[in-house]
Amino acid sequence: MKIKVVKEHRKRALELIDMAEQIVKEGDIELARRYVRLALTYSSKFRFKLPLVYKRKICRKCFVPLIPGLTERRRIKNKVIVRTCIYCGWVRRYPVKKTDKGG
Ligand SMILES: [Zn+2]
Repeated sequence: MKIKVVKEHRKRALELIDMAEQIVKEGDIELARRYVRLALTYSSKFRFKLPLVYKRKICRKCFVPLIPGLTERRRIKNKVIVRTCIYCGWVRRYPVKKTDKGG
């Protein structure tokens, strides 16, 4: 029973982040932030972890979905991705994976 509830909220949280991504592309930053915040609330309330790929989709400081060229500045320096949130200046760095293409 409890596991089922957690599973449902986890699914919902991922959906919310996907939707937030779309919304931010349409220009509604505030609504997108609200969706992301709700997803993170689910994550802490129901104690599940968001997949890494989803965690990397959002700014952990101001909750904006990060979209390169739109809400995020992305640079690659010495095989390290440097991502900057254009709204709050939050910076995150991590190594480029071998499977990642481009630059
Ligand atoms: Zn931010």
